[in-house]
Amino acid sequence: MTTIVWFRQDLRLSDHPAFSAALDRLAENASRIIPVYILDEGSPRLGGAARWWLHHSLAGLQADLARRGSRLILRHGDAETEIASLLQETGATAVYWNRRYDPEGIRQDQAIKSRLKERGIDAQSFVGNYLHEPWQVLNRQGEPFRVFTPYWKALVAAGIDDAPLPDLPDTLPPVPENLASAALSALPLLPAIPWDRAFPEYWQPGEQGAWARFDAFLPRIESYADGRNALDGTGVSRLSPHLRFGEITPRQISAALFSRYPHPLEVPGVEHFLRELGWREFGNYLLFHEPQTVSEPLNPRFADFPWRDAPDDLRAWQRGETGIPVVDAAMRALWTTGWMHNRARMIVASFLTKNLLLDWRLGADWFMDTLVDADPGSNTAGWQWTAGSGADAAPYFRIFNPILQAEKFDPDGRFIRQWLPELARADTKTLFAPWQASSNALGRAGIRLGETYPEPIVDLAGSRTRALDAFARIKSAA
Ligand code: FAD
Repeated sequence: MTTIVWFRQDLRLSDHPAFSAALDRLAENASRIIPVYILDEGSPRLGGAARWWLHHSLAGLQADLARRGSRLILRHGDAETEIASLLQETGATAVYWNRRYDPEGIRQDQAIKSRLKERGIDAQSFVGNYLHEPWQVLNRQGEPFRVFTPYWKALVAAGIDDAPLPDLPDTLPPVPENLASAALSALPLLPAIPWDRAFPEYWQPGEQGAWARFDAFLPRIESYADGRNALDGTGVSRLSPHLRFGEITPRQISAALFSRYPHPLEVPGVEHFLRELGWREFGNYLLFHEPQTVSEPLNPRFADFPWRDAPDDLRAWQRGETGIPVVDAAMRALWTTGWMHNRARMIVASFLTKNLLLDWRLGADWFMDTLVDADPGSNTAGWQWTAGSGADAAPYFRIFNPILQAEKFDPDGRFIRQWLPELARADTKTLFAPWQASSNALGRAGIRLGETYPEPIVDLAGSRTRALDAFARIKSAA
């Protein structure tokens, strides 16, 4: 009896419920386990930066399986067709996987599971990448939460300290040598134009990289509550792409913190960090309960919001050429590293949706393409929250002032100088708002506005008023 373990967003060999279940079946006399990854272009859509990550994470998984005497079978095509063919090629009678929750993924998994069951195949799915299933955490009326704080309390009450499953054994059953696998290098994951050149400096995709990142962050976790907003990123973990690809699980992280701290929810930095993992759960939870929010505002009042159509402004934002230094630094950091700090995400999202009055979906699409951690749940929630149309959203009238944000969260200008070398010689006041600086200050820093660095593409005060007027219009129409 052979079991196929279908890897998707769970590229690890520890705390892996589907693989552990396959091993239990092995103990019950099954003969083989076939680990499989299928690159299915139909679903769900993967952006360029995430594809880069996937390539390297699969390489890590391949090596880890090989070390244990197993082999990762790679296929490229429609998942259902590839599974049907693998069943035929291997004589497998079971297919196990860990669940995903994006609308497209759910649709595909449900269809595959029911058709496998019709054929008498033992098809089973497991909770793999979250602390709890989204349908398990409900309010007293049995309905989904729309606000984070009560959701988080319910999540904590449901238990966030479950023990993870153990690592898989050092030796796994071998995969038949004649079973065909695509070569990783033949999968179209790496970009044709090498815009990803700098990524390896910043990232080590794969399970080992995830644990190295976690171990490096642990000594700093107690100052997380204070340090997490610093734009230079020194106060945060950068675990998001590892979590996104399931190289480490929230259950493993939480268990490590519960074993290190007897009462982690009473240690400010640790509690705050766990709560951020709660935000990750909440994004996934909202996506599950409100799947339309990937493309529609959760708050229907925003359905007719008068977004502007201004492709040149969108392009300036994407390229980090808006003339607002903190926005441009963040957007260039994203392009070069595939990642952006949470506060920077809020600043650039507020600038796009409010100062530029451009539709949040344009920003969400760009993030899905350029972030290594691009995740439909967290990305949709983050954009809708900032735009004011989401659950528990920032009130629309709260418009980030990028100058004040830079002063507060990049006080010595280190972050902006790193990403905008053309402004590096400016004093901090000039750095945060060069268009307000005297010609002497600009001259001393070697800045020629409109030549070496752009003039702002919008007036911050005027565009703020314009956004508030637009909001007042949908409010009065409601
Ligand atoms: P840390 O501060 O170290 O936090 C640890 C973990 O908690 C993170 O890895 C992440 O999994 C989770 N987390 C932290 N903050 C949040 C948050 N606000 N919402 C949800 N989860 C959080 N996160 C993604 O993983 N993928 C996305 O596509 C994504 N898009 C976003 C878009 C916008 C507009 C905004 C405002 C936020 C978005 N986030 C997204 C959430 C957040 O910005 C990132 O998770 C965080 O910056 C990752 O950095 P870190 O791992 O150092 O986080």
